[in-house]
Amino acid sequence: MISANDIHKRFGSTEVLRGVSLHIDKGDVVAVIGPSGSGKSTFLRCLNRLESIDRGRIDIEGETLVDTDAAGACRYAADADSRRICRKMGMVFQQFNLFPHLTVLQNVIEAPVTVKGLTREAAIPAAEELLRKVGLAHKRDAYPSHLSGGQKQRVAIARALAMEPDIMLFDEPTSALDPELTGEVLRTIRQLAEEHMTMIVVTHEMAFARDVSTRVIFMDGGEIIEERPAAEMFASPAHPRTRAFLNHLA
Ligand code: ATP
Ligand code: MG
Repeated sequence: MISANDIHKRFGSTEVLRGVSLHIDKGDVVAVIGPSGSGKSTFLRCLNRLESIDRGRIDIEGETLVDTDAAGACRYAADADSRRICRKMGMVFQQFNLFPHLTVLQNVIEAPVTVKGLTREAAIPAAEELLRKVGLAHKRDAYPSHLSGGQKQRVAIARALAMEPDIMLFDEPTSALDPELTGEVLRTIRQLAEEHMTMIVVTHEMAFARDVSTRVIFMDGGEIIEERPAAEMFASPAHPRTRAFLNHLA
């Protein structure tokens, strides 16, 4: 579904991704862990072209988003194709990023209406169904400023799902939340996993990574250091840097 090969990315003189390769199959739930600054967010953002890469190749569902020729020149698919390919992925950020001037329902139907061209009437039933799914049907007419952080994040998830993505990307979806609110968001993501949604979840929630993901990726210094089935990664990390990271958290 997603195949990233030898992804390189620099910001100025700093090489932030140093040859990252990852293959994601349908139904995979991949947790990405690693220290601050290791390149987790940058990698996720490169997958859906929120950042451009300097070298490497990314294929999404058999379509090439970007490739690098023998001379080292990086080429993206034409803009319309790029957008279409990236729309297969929904993204949820740490900071929710809801539209503050729109109600919950308006937030959820915004992209289906403006991007997919649905009428509001056509978009509303699916949006209401998604709000039910994340437990927020009763908040459909509320504004984001009247919601708790956990509720905002569940709206953000519903909004991403409204575009019917094949893959969901989560970048630390619970890091901005008070501890008592992380559970409701993690439960929502867990429910998606049970429905076999393909997902990449950058997270500091190790219990969640262990219990919900099929695979765990440990990144450090812009590289994937170790990639293992979740149970193995936590029971017996092979690489000293993974062990040091997990011990430090324990
Ligand atoms: P965290 O756990 O703190 O979120 P991360 O693993 O997500 O960290 P990234 O945000 O991907 O790390 O950052 C990797 C490196 O790239 C860091 O050194 C960061 O300072 C740098 N970086 C990220 N975005 C930019 C940018 N837009 N311009 C310049 N440097 C950047
Ligand atoms: Mg990050």
